Amino acid sequence: MTKTAFPLLALLALVACGKKDESATAASPAAQTAAQPAALDAAAAAGAENRRRDPFTYANYDAVRVTDLALEATVLFDEKTLDAVATLTVERVDPAATMLVLDANDLDIRRVEAGDGETFAPATYSLGPDDPVLGSKLTIDLPAGARKVRIAYRTSPGAEALQWLSPEQTAGKKRPFMYSQNQSINARSMAPVQDTPAVRMTWSATIRTPADLRAVMSAENDMGPTDGEYAFRMPQPVPAYLLAIAAGDIAFKALSETIGVYAEPSVVEAAAAEFADTPAMERTASALYGPYRWGRYDLLILPPSFPFGGMENPRLSFMTPTLLAGDKSLTGVVAHELAHSWSGNLVTNATWSDAWLNEGVTSYVENRLVEAVYGTGRAVMEQALSLKSLQEEIAGQTKPELTRLRLPMNLDHPDEAFSDIAYVKGEFFLRFLEERYGRAVFDPFLRDWFETHAFKAATTDDFRGFLLERLVAANPQAASIAEIDEWLDAPGLPATTPQPKSAAFDKVDAARRAFLDGAAAPASLGTAAWTAQEWLHFINGLPADISPSRLGELDLAFDLTNSRNAEIAFAWQMKAIGAGYAPAMPAVENFLTHVGRGKFIYPLYRALKDKGELATAERILEKAKAGYHPIAQRRVADILQAQN
Ligand SMILES: [Zn+2]
Repeated sequence: MTKTAFPLLALLALVACGKKDESATAASPAAQTAAQPAALDAAAAAGAENRRRDPFTYANYDAVRVTDLALEATVLFDEKTLDAVATLTVERVDPAATMLVLDANDLDIRRVEAGDGETFAPATYSLGPDDPVLGSKLTIDLPAGARKVRIAYRTSPGAEALQWLSPEQTAGKKRPFMYSQNQSINARSMAPVQDTPAVRMTWSATIRTPADLRAVMSAENDMGPTDGEYAFRMPQPVPAYLLAIAAGDIAFKALSETIGVYAEPSVVEAAAAEFADTPAMERTASALYGPYRWGRYDLLILPPSFPFGGMENPRLSFMTPTLLAGDKSLTGVVAHELAHSWSGNLVTNATWSDAWLNEGVTSYVENRLVEAVYGTGRAVMEQALSLKSLQEEIAGQTKPELTRLRLPMNLDHPDEAFSDIAYVKGEFFLRFLEERYGRAVFDPFLRDWFETHAFKAATTDDFRGFLLERLVAANPQAASIAEIDEWLDAPGLPATTPQPKSAAFDKVDAARRAFLDGAAAPASLGTAAWTAQEWLHFINGLPADISPSRLGELDLAFDLTNSRNAEIAFAWQMKAIGAGYAPAMPAVENFLTHVGRGKFIYPLYRALKDKGELATAERILEKAKAGYHPIAQRRVADILQAQN
């Protein structure tokens, strides 16, 4: 996933869940596979909490594991429901196991059967109470010999994973659209599964839609005609959070033989042009980190309500249309989602407290792809922008333990792990290693990490052990274990943090100073050739107490309020709200009512509230919320209701 600005919410008191540590003593099978060098026992013990099982699942995956899901579902737009049958193949890890425990959230369970695969008989089951974070525990009796469980169910119209868009909320305005967002723990509201990154399953699906609509999934897609019935197959085992579906008026345009873009017909040409560099990114990633293992790589451009920049659903990344800037300036998000084909989808964090293994490694790979395709200048600018954002986040974080790469296990919600710490501190940890060992050594190391842990879940300890064994032991002078452990376990940013040096940003800094000092008028700042990154650096560096009239001077010269680049528009609107620059307010309202991407809307709502404009924020939310994904609706409501 791309960053969601969740740290704003980390300050909120979410509902604590008493069940999280119920199995805290059982190490996950994935964690047990990591052989640690004996000398590292003390450090491993210090991180032992990370080796516990995933606390955000009810699943008894230490005893019984789901290995395959066969899903049949009908997409009922009028009822905002999937009417489905899920057939799970299970494997007894403990031969004496007599029950299968699954995660379910808001599912209407109609019938549960168990059998050997040929015949099924009704099975006894129980559905536990609804926990606000975890959902419900679905316990199914598993008779001797049973290796399949068949569950008929319906999803709820309010399912946390699913957004149902009316025709008016789509680009085409004629047909409805639906899509899922299952990371981090929403898969359980779409299907009864073992919803933990520690469990992988193969899966297949048959999806029925109205005859003129197309369904797509994070799998081998059915590229046949639009006829209302589609078959999918995912032959590689993946965790449940990577299960994804969308259905609507969806067209396709190829970018190469194995890469293409799905989008609403009115968007597909612009998307194909914007993302034309995706094949070059894929070639670069494969050359650096080993072959792409997933067959096709396609992008699905969603309606603007999509709450994230992108989601790395295998073979089919889901992308926000706010990346369509017209100049390929925001395609780093494509590099990011593609990079997840190695970090995250191939090698998966065993628990969400290890999220940096997904997001930090991915952000590092993303920047390497940006460098290869767009040059060092842009890559370094993007590093500098990320580092500034991270520094601000650390400065505003009141819980130091949430600024460690190795996060505590007792998060309030797994989404708390998706902050700049996982993304940017993780990225800079790898950048630190790259600097110390050099690319000639570090690149093959990272490739080996992906290859030796492919299709497995990994913990921070696994990475540390692999690092000490493969890099530190062979190059003892390059970095000390103490330096590495400071990165993993100390709060804040180590003194060894690499500092990106951008000559282009130095010029932007000089231009901003000249403007602020009154030495230069906006028109003489030399902005004609500035890229989006330079504009972002310029705007982000404006002082918080800048006067509305000075913003007005810039707006008159550059029309920043109406920028068609969503990142620039957002950065500008944040400054405008903070400064009380009234002419930008209609644009803020327009943006919030047309875009549902969390990275933008959470900080904007927070800024309005902090500025004393809570009533305005609530009025806009009332108008806009039908166009937000359930995840975004919940989080914006939390932001506006927080007492602080
Ligand atoms: Zn990501």
